[in-house]
Amino acid sequence: MATRKPFEIAIVGGGITGLTLAIALHHRGIKIQIYEAAKAFGEIGAGVSFNANAVGSMKICHDEVYDAFLKVRTRNLWPSKEKVWFDYHDAFGDEGDELEASKVVYVSSRLKYSSPFEQSADDGLQTIYSSIGQNGVHRARYLESLIHLVPDELCHFNKRLKDIVQTDAGRSTLHFADGSTAEADAIIGCDGIKSNVRRLLHGDDHPCAQPTFTHKIAYRGVVPMEQAIKAVGEERASNACMHLGPGGHMLTFPVNHGQTLNIVAFTTKDEDWTTLTGQSSDKLTAPTKREKAIKDFAGFSGDVQRLLRLTAEDLDIWAIFHLGDNPPPSYAKGNIAILGDAAHATSPHHGAGAGMCIEDSAVMAELLADTAVQTREDVEVVFATFSELRKERGDGLVQSSARQGRIYEWQTEYGRDFGMQEEEIKKRNARIGEVDVGKLVEDAREVLRKRLADRS
Ligand SMILES: Cc1cc2nc3c(=O)[nH]c(=O)nc-3n(C[C@H](O)[C@H](O)[C@H](O)COP(=O)(O)OP(=O)(O)OC[C@H]3O[C@@H](n4cnc5c(N)ncnc54)[C@H](O)[C@@H]3O)c2cc1C
Repeated sequence: MATRKPFEIAIVGGGITGLTLAIALHHRGIKIQIYEAAKAFGEIGAGVSFNANAVGSMKICHDEVYDAFLKVRTRNLWPSKEKVWFDYHDAFGDEGDELEASKVVYVSSRLKYSSPFEQSADDGLQTIYSSIGQNGVHRARYLESLIHLVPDELCHFNKRLKDIVQTDAGRSTLHFADGSTAEADAIIGCDGIKSNVRRLLHGDDHPCAQPTFTHKIAYRGVVPMEQAIKAVGEERASNACMHLGPGGHMLTFPVNHGQTLNIVAFTTKDEDWTTLTGQSSDKLTAPTKREKAIKDFAGFSGDVQRLLRLTAEDLDIWAIFHLGDNPPPSYAKGNIAILGDAAHATSPHHGAGAGMCIEDSAVMAELLADTAVQTREDVEVVFATFSELRKERGDGLVQSSARQGRIYEWQTEYGRDFGMQEEEIKKRNARIGEVDVGKLVEDAREVLRKRLADRS
């Protein structure tokens, strides 16, 4: 471990961003404390999949962040599909399937795609590859394997950050909901989509304080692999699939070393989240029934219908909010920075939100650990550099993901034309997922050193 630096960082929030950052900084000899609002670290939802940039970032954060991933990841189960990201299926209507889906009349005001539905479709299978193929992990399993990499004494629970006050000595005091306080030289908000640190950084009145509803919701479920195989056959159950249709799409990939199939079924709604569920926008999940999901996917293929029927009768729906309408003006000010969803909460249509969080952690850790960074004032230069260099990529992911979601649901000028969709998806995936994070870090370090040198 490198020599300790004379400053201490408070990390607010212990999700994937906070934990990977904490591990990366702690193992670089930088003093940290983590303050988490919940009573323990935890993840909800089943699967999350990672692209090449995420895996490269894990290696930079710390070898064990990568090793933990290797232990829990599940790839496509067929060796012939190792490099397949998703097999794409035209999933609307399915002649001859047992549910007679093609006879269902699909009427919905939410079909906003601009090409006529009847236009010629690319029936059958299309495939999009990536350099590392599909890599799904069960969220909770991955988090569990990361937790032990941070010493217990650095983790503080039931610490919901309410306010930050600057001290006369140039440090910051964190005020928590339980009335306690803590001090640090700098604060990194990793407190997710509803980030209080973002709100404190840019003010209650700035629109970025409130993420907005994308009008997409997701039904999520996990089903035993044996049942999934019976429902859709071995090839489609064992390997990642994306089923596309008008106003909805379902993705599936194996997790738990192939014992379980993770299902996420997205659909577009006209209503806002509160009208739809009665929930305020403070709560991003709501209980629902499987029957509602089945109804929302009426007219979709038998594969989609049969998989939905395997999910639990009581399901949760997830609201897909993002910062795409109101991105924060910066990711840092003075001695406060925001990372991960706190900075660029995105819809999940790139499968890259968590990957970008880990990328943030890798870049921030490498900048703070640079030998040129020695004082509290230097940390502020690191934060300003981080904000300047990361904003385009973070905000870009949010926009790209929103567009990708519309492509998947035939809501763009391409309609059902998979050839056109494929061309654009490939370009977008390459921009987000196939980057050399080592090079990103090197470039950032060069900019930082120049800034530090110019200042003195
Ligand atoms: C349906 C769905 C599917 C997804 N699939 C993928 C995928 O396949 N691949 C991918 O890369 N990404 C995916 N994502 C995105 C990914 O889940 C997020 O980008 C990622 O989990 C965000 O991590 P985070 O640590 O920044 O925030 P969070 O996970 O939200 O963690 C924030 C933490 O901060 C704590 N906190 C909040 N407020 C405070 C406070 N005031 N004080 C102290 N602590 C606080 C919270 O308790 C929490 O522990 C998906 C998202 C959704 C909704």
